[in-house]
Amino acid sequence: MEDRVLKIAHLYPKLLNLYGDMGNIITLTKRCEWRGIKVEIDNIGIGDEIGEHDFYFIGGGQDKQQQDVAQELYRHKEFLTTERDNGAVFLGICGGYQLFGHYYQPFEGDKLFGISLLDAYTVAGKKRFIGNVTIKTDFLTPQTLVGFENHSGLTYLQGDTKPLGTSIVGNGNNGEDKFEGARYKCVFGTYLHGSLLPKNPHFADYLIKLALQKRYGDVDLPELNSEIELNTHNSLIGKAY
Ligand code: GLN
Repeated sequence: MEDRVLKIAHLYPKLLNLYGDMGNIITLTKRCEWRGIKVEIDNIGIGDEIGEHDFYFIGGGQDKQQQDVAQELYRHKEFLTTERDNGAVFLGICGGYQLFGHYYQPFEGDKLFGISLLDAYTVAGKKRFIGNVTIKTDFLTPQTLVGFENHSGLTYLQGDTKPLGTSIVGNGNNGEDKFEGARYKCVFGTYLHGSLLPKNPHFADYLIKLALQKRYGDVDLPELNSEIELNTHNSLIGKAY
């Protein structure tokens, strides 16, 4: 009898949730439940304390919403850094990803300080990057991730923070170095909206396994039939429009 549980904190869903980011939470939940793993989701809002979880998710948003979230997130910087160092999984999409770095400098106005879970920073560019994306990773099977980007922020990685993958289609972090997204320890950031996880089931399972490891040590995750999800994935590889 399966009695494992995955505790997910969805950070500021009312403010940061663009282009179906919520689909990531639904995918994580379903892929756990189909395996008999219980999922507990806490929606964290402004003013709430967070408490220990296995998985922290934050979506994307406009600069205004990012502004509202940035200060509040910063209040939890120390706690979330400890959680990162204890092996919790973090997934940040676009605006949320930017706040996992040191700062986001919008085109106008003050710099928004991030929580430095990743050694990265973001500066608004003059151009907006909009379109489909395919990237190639070096740690997933299949290696590709597909999604959709819409951002003007240009993100640059430093130190031990590695890219999530390299761009095959799309602009990636900054349109220059071919890198897309970031990873350090179990923290992952990416510009891929779309939603990301429904059509990248192999990444969803990779993250679920990592997150279960925080609580249960080395775990084994039964295979699911992902034919439909992988067909969708495959049909989008390399597609620019
Ligand atoms: N404001 C950020 C940008 O345009 C984030 C946008 C988003 O989350 N889609 O770079």
